[in-house]
Amino acid sequence: MVKEYPYYIGGEFRKSNEEIAKLNPNNEEVFAKLFETKKEDLDFCLKRTRESQELWKNLSFKERAKVLREIHRILLDNLRLLAELETEEIGKPLKESLFVDIPLGADCFNYYASFLESLEEELSESEAGIDLIKYEPLGVIAVYLPYNVPLMIFGFSCASALAAGNSLIIKPSEYGSLSLLELATYIDKLDIPKGLINIVTGKGDTLGRSLAQSDVDMISFTGSRETLKKIFQESINSPKKIICELGGCNLCVVFSDADKRRVLENILGSSFIKSGQMCIGTSLILIEEEIYEDLVKDLVDKTKRIKMGDPLDPQTQMGPLPTRGHLENIHKQVKDLQAKGAKILCGGEPLSKKGYFYPPTILELKEIIYEEFFAPVVLVKSFKRQDIEKIIKENPTGLVLQIWTNDIFKAKELANMSGYGTVWVNTFAQMSPEIPFGGNKLSGWGRNLGRFGFFEYAQPKHIGIGFKKSPVEGWFGV
Ligand code: NAD
Repeated sequence: MVKEYPYYIGGEFRKSNEEIAKLNPNNEEVFAKLFETKKEDLDFCLKRTRESQELWKNLSFKERAKVLREIHRILLDNLRLLAELETEEIGKPLKESLFVDIPLGADCFNYYASFLESLEEELSESEAGIDLIKYEPLGVIAVYLPYNVPLMIFGFSCASALAAGNSLIIKPSEYGSLSLLELATYIDKLDIPKGLINIVTGKGDTLGRSLAQSDVDMISFTGSRETLKKIFQESINSPKKIICELGGCNLCVVFSDADKRRVLENILGSSFIKSGQMCIGTSLILIEEEIYEDLVKDLVDKTKRIKMGDPLDPQTQMGPLPTRGHLENIHKQVKDLQAKGAKILCGGEPLSKKGYFYPPTILELKEIIYEEFFAPVVLVKSFKRQDIEKIIKENPTGLVLQIWTNDIFKAKELANMSGYGTVWVNTFAQMSPEIPFGGNKLSGWGRNLGRFGFFEYAQPKHIGIGFKKSPVEGWFGV
């Protein structure tokens, strides 16, 4: 049965005549339908969102915290269905949606509820009087989500934005919308201002563009650099604060003294979980020359054993890519690299069966290139110790650097000099709502999560109450 998923605006579910059919990437059959949000509906949504924000911002921190805990609850109460929807739509194995992505997104609401419960605005007394620092919201925030982990990034960006008193127009990717639209049916039952949380659906270059052009007060964008560039141009006549979480060429640096078993386990995970469609995933593995041959051989052996199949089957370790377009782009990228001299060590050809299956692929490079695939494709290259600092520094992107070594002083030195938002030493994916997350250089700016995440979505207001002489009294002496 093909299920319809209307969009959710101003507390109402609406449809348009323009349908977007959703194909199940495992069997290429239509299983759901989205609707392109109409222009007049977006206008209605903007109006309602602004009205609801006026109500929401006047609630106390404790009252807002209560709502955040409710959102945490509805995410977990409906976890199974939400996880199945993300898996069916996107193709990632169920255990990833069920045990990692959605629970982590939900945790963010709990974290910011606790954060609000202990938050106090600042007050200081000086010779001139009293200074109050209030944390005010920015207003209406347009939140753009990527397709791979919709409810996780919903948690990363929307929990703090709501905590700070903003209202939200969420624009999920047309390739990853269903779990959010399902969630909307539970949000609708909460006792919150209608229009506080809206989910608009449609294509990036139509609806996404109209939203960027609108008079929202801030954009929180998670997605690709190419789209961010478009959003800058689209919003040029209505400039607003933009924070952005982009991808990048994440490096994994393995020194010869590292624990080989742990390195292999973590490289497999960081390269191929979610078919490599993780912003924190590894793109380029750099291995010290002494251990290169041996480690690569074991890595290729293990990679070939990864079991691909139906993402809802608990035995499946890697599912299909979400669309044929994505699969074709990746294959072209692999072939282009091969034509430039890279050697395919395993994978490299789409599976000849129904569904968008691309196998885990390892390419050996002759020269360093910094490329993000967002697919089950990873590059390997050996390095000499004296060159590694330069290789790390020359990466134009700066999201994640992994360092594997037993020499913790060397690791710390490299971590300190590197321009990355996250450096993991002898670990991977060590993340939680308390820890700020975001990239440097071409991987974006601004941070989600942690207390820094809250202040991205708030603007401090200073109220100075003078009860003595102000600094200018008597200046002219007239
Ligand atoms: P994308 O850039 O294609 O899409 C992101 C969002 O922008 C979607 O909602 C899309 O509909 C919208 N969009 C597309 N074109 C638009 C336009 N012209 N105007 C306005 N909006 C438009 O990204 P994606 O393919 O969904 O996600 C993959 C990318 O996201 C990768 O580069 C990945 O590294 C990055 N990512 C980053 C993080 C992070 O936290 N740093 C997390 C997940 C994904």
